[in-house]
Order: sequence, then structure tokens, then C-alpha cells
Amino acid sequence: MKKVLHISTECYPAAKSGGLGDVVGALPVYQEKFDIEASVIIPKYNLPWFQKQNFTTEFSGHIQLAEYGYNFEVQKLKDGVLPYPLYCIDIPNLFDRPSIYLDEHGKGYQDEPQRNIAFQRTILQWLVKCNKDFDLLHCHDHQSGLIPFFTKFVPKFSSLSWIPTIFTIHNAQYRGIFQWYFQKYLPAYDWQHNGWLDWDHCINSLAAAVKVADIVTTVSPNYMAEISMYSGNLETLFRSEQQKCTGIINGIDTEVWDPKTDKYLDHKRTHHWQTFKNKNKKSLCEEFNLDPKLPLISFIGRLANEKGADFLGESIYHACKMQSNASFILLGSGDKEIENDLLTLQSYFPDRVASIIKYDEGLAHKIYAGSDFLMMPSRFEPCGLNQMYAMHYGTIPIVRSTGGLKDTVPDISEDGNGIAYLESSAGALTHSIMRALELYSNKEQFKKLRKKVIAIDFSWEKSAQKYFDLYHQILEKQLQT
Ligand code: ADP
Repeated sequence: MKKVLHISTECYPAAKSGGLGDVVGALPVYQEKFDIEASVIIPKYNLPWFQKQNFTTEFSGHIQLAEYGYNFEVQKLKDGVLPYPLYCIDIPNLFDRPSIYLDEHGKGYQDEPQRNIAFQRTILQWLVKCNKDFDLLHCHDHQSGLIPFFTKFVPKFSSLSWIPTIFTIHNAQYRGIFQWYFQKYLPAYDWQHNGWLDWDHCINSLAAAVKVADIVTTVSPNYMAEISMYSGNLETLFRSEQQKCTGIINGIDTEVWDPKTDKYLDHKRTHHWQTFKNKNKKSLCEEFNLDPKLPLISFIGRLANEKGADFLGESIYHACKMQSNASFILLGSGDKEIENDLLTLQSYFPDRVASIIKYDEGLAHKIYAGSDFLMMPSRFEPCGLNQMYAMHYGTIPIVRSTGGLKDTVPDISEDGNGIAYLESSAGALTHSIMRALELYSNKEQFKKLRKKVIAIDFSWEKSAQKYFDLYHQILEKQLQT
């Protein structure tokens, strides 16, 4: 049985701000079925989940980042809470904060370089000092992107240099770019290796990982193709490394996301889908004073431009003005301007629009279960999980065809499973909302499509198999060298 360590800043249910948390929380469960013993390590945050758990200390150490010294501990979650071993790095003053990435003004923490570098260095210090015997390190996103470089080129971590690394890009927009000034926080290495870290005269954690890791994956095949064509100056890198790059679509955790057992739903699925949908829609509409007889179109997600959330206000305004008979539930938080936009929209149409500005896991489940349609007007979307949750709960996706959305939601005009459009604009979203309403008015066609999306298998098995094949490939290669 091969031992893999997933290194990430999120893992559901401990810490989640989006899809990364879902993936790292679920993939290890499915890997066990492929005879892989997967463990996860994340930072220990000051979040409610951590306060309710018991941990044992595995290792205590100290790390010096130039003038700043930090004591840290590697703690292991008590057995039996999660189906796989979860380790947390507790670094007081760096991670014991109430939010994963953002300060109280919604801005990224100023000390991100220190946080990321300390996280990665402390993990490697633990692995070296405790002789941990992982066969493979699986790094997720730029916060762990320097690990392949550290294991290969930092003398004090040389005992780890034989361990293959795999780097998964969940979002290439975030890159962990630091000025060379922050080199002082890195562990000592020969300066001749600077080229591995550099991209455009900065330290670029994501680019370094793409250069040094043995294998690079993105969370959908189409996203891999897209970032090789346009990714704001990394195209040439992706193209030159394409032989080790591949896209694997995420799955969904069908144990957590099961309409029959979902702990957040008042009305679980028993026999009839129609009853399941009707009851959940009714409860949801009652909670937000909306008319359950109208089609219900929702949005769940970070209120960010990349999600196309800035199109929602204008687009729904026009849809409502066109006398379209529909209600809207919008759940999200993030950009303050977009938050205000959605609240203003609600004030214009209080009986048609509910804007809920917060992160609420339980409400998200209720919305997937109770809605007729889910909008994802993303400018880009590495994989997107919401469309899969939606379909699994009998809700038809309305998506802009990009990244993983293109892989998972072909348009109904092509015998697909949702409403997909190309142009990234408020007008194109309004047009798609109108298409959705037309579809809804044709009861037979709508029911048929609902039946079709429910039957699609989005479970992790197929993708876990693909990761297994990649692991196997690099471990075999390592044996031959
Ligand atoms: P990303 O990781 O880019 O934010 P994904 O589609 O990969 O997007 O994952 C989004 C995940 O976060 C889904 O599980 C979605 O339900 C959840 N989510 C996003 N915003 C909220 C919110 N405001 N409340 C509850 N869940 C949310």
C-alpha cells in the first residue's frame, strides 16, 4: 500500500473556502479503494471546527524566517473523526486566525509570503526529523508550490529528494508571487538554482511547481487546454511542460452530497424526485418569502469577477423587467461592490429576489435541492463543483462554457444536460435565463432533462482511478532510475 501526503490549505470539513476544500476532503476517501493510504496536512486555523476537536502533538519545532522566529507543532486529529489521518500545522501568530485567506476588510493577508513559506518549511522539517515514510507528496495550489523545489534543491531537506511530487492546480489565477526580497524567508540553497523559482523577475510559487514537480494536473481537461493558450503570461511555461501536464475532472463526494441522507435537508429524498424537489423548493421559498409556483433560479459562490458574479445584478434586473416570471436566490460573499449590487437588486424586487450575503454550507445544500436552475456565469472555472452538486440534486445548470463547465455541461441544443453559452456578458446571461424559462414552461421537456441530469455519475471513482494511474506511473519511473 502506497502512502501519499496531500498538502493543502483547505480540507472539508475542517477548513473550506471553495472547491479546493471539497476536493482535498473527498479524494483521500476514494483513494483508499485503490489501495492508497492517503493522509492530509493543513494549517491549524482559529475556526469553529478546530475548537471542537481533540488533537495529539506529533512534533514540536522552531522555524526562523529571517528576523522572525516561530515555534510550531504538528498535531494529529484524534482517530475516527475523519476516514483518513489529518495532520495540522499549528503556527501561532501566522495561522490561528478566524479566516483562511482574508482579513476583516476582505483583503488577502499582508503576510502571505511568511505564511506560505512557513507552512511549507515546517511540513518538510517534520518529515525529515520524524523520518516519515510517505511515498509521494501531492501538493495542491500555490500555497504548497515551493515544496517540489525545496525537496529537490534544499540541502537540509535532501533526505526527501527521492520522493516524487505531484502538483494539482485548482486555480491558476492565484500564483503565490513574491518579490525576490522575500528570498530571505526561504531555506538555504545554492543560488544557481534561482531560475527554478523565477518567473518574470519574481518568485512565482505556481510556476516553480510546474517546473519542478514530476507531474502537474489541473482539475479538468479543458482548463488545462485553456491555460496553455491564455493564462496571463504562463502559456509558454505550460506549453513547454505539457508532457507532464494532464487534466483530471473532479468528482463529488456522494456520501456527503446524497439527497437521501443529506443532513442539511429538512426533506430528504425518499421515492419520488418530484416530491423531493417540490418540498425543498417550498421550504426554501417560504424561508425567503418567494412564490414557490414560479421557477426558482439560484447562484451560489464567491462574489468575484472570475465567477461572473458582477453580471448577476444587471442581468437579473433585466430579466425581472422583461416580466419574466421567476424568482432568484443568490448566496455568496466577497467583493463589497458586488455584495451591494445584489442587495440593491433585492430592494428593487423584494418578492422576486433574495440576496443572502454570507457563507452558509447548510443553506447551499438547501438551495441545490430546492432550485430549478443554478447559474454559473463564470469568466473562467477550473472545474466547478456547483454544477455537479446541482445536477446530482435535480437542478439544471445554466453555465458559461469555460474550463470544467465546458467538460461537464454541453448545451441542450447538442443533446446536452444544461443551458450553456459562450459570451461572457450580462446580456448573454439574461438571454440564457430566458432560455431556461422557456424550457421550464415545457413541463415534459423539463422533466425529461431533470431525469437525465440526475442519472449522470459524477462520483469520484473514475477520477480517483486516474490519479492512481498517475501515481503508479511516477512511482514506476522512480524505480527505473
Ligand atoms: P471555487 O473553489 O472557485 O470557489 P468551486 O465551484 O470549485 O469554486 O467550489 C465552490 C464550493 O464552495 C461549493 O461547494 C459551493 O457550494 C461552496 N460555496 C461557495 N460559496 C458559498 C457560500 N456563500 N455558502 C456556502 N457554500 C458556498
